[in-house]
Amino acid sequence: MARDTSPQCKQCRREGQKLFLKGERCLTDKCGVERRAYPPGEHGRGRQKQSEYRLQLREKQKARRYYGLLERQFRNYYEKASRQPGVTGENLLTLLECRLDNVLVRLGFAASRRQARQLVRHGHWTVNGRRVDIPSYQVRPGDVIAVKAGTTAQRVIREATELTGQVPAWLQADHDGLTAKVLRKPERREVAAPVQEQLIVEHYSK
Ligand code: SF4
Repeated sequence: MARDTSPQCKQCRREGQKLFLKGERCLTDKCGVERRAYPPGEHGRGRQKQSEYRLQLREKQKARRYYGLLERQFRNYYEKASRQPGVTGENLLTLLECRLDNVLVRLGFAASRRQARQLVRHGHWTVNGRRVDIPSYQVRPGDVIAVKAGTTAQRVIREATELTGQVPAWLQADHDGLTAKVLRKPERREVAAPVQEQLIVEHYSK
């Protein structure tokens, strides 16, 4: 499975804001954006030419990086969202939010999407009692997520729960039992991604 292995702090610096890709480190003064608040590269501190296209492209890249996806995967989500009834931008965010790796981060069971993906890939999680090792698995209302019995990753998962603030209202988490339930699909106002989805739709609909 192809994955994005490019340096994460550079991705944040390129987008000019913290995307919280590294878990605990993002909360410290070692954060790349805090230390070097300008884009990476030789011309990072030069003047950036602004255009409508650039704004739309950057917004799409930011969302793609926030959820840790490659271009092809992200575009597939957009195409799926555009075929669904309703507002394409909101459909897109709902699809991205309901990925199992993202849900684990929202629940506080992983410090970052990259860590969540690894935990899923290594078979540490079950959904409705069955092992799921596909990070892109779409959770549905009523799904019960639980750590696999006897897993060796419990310590890492418990450490991640200590970093968590609030769990969104569409999810319910039990940090002691390491289980959770999906209560419903997220509403737009509950999606904490720093993204203007309309610009992404404009970018792809050209
Ligand atoms: Fe981004 Fe985290 Fe790196 Fe800061 S520490 S630049 S938020 S990945």
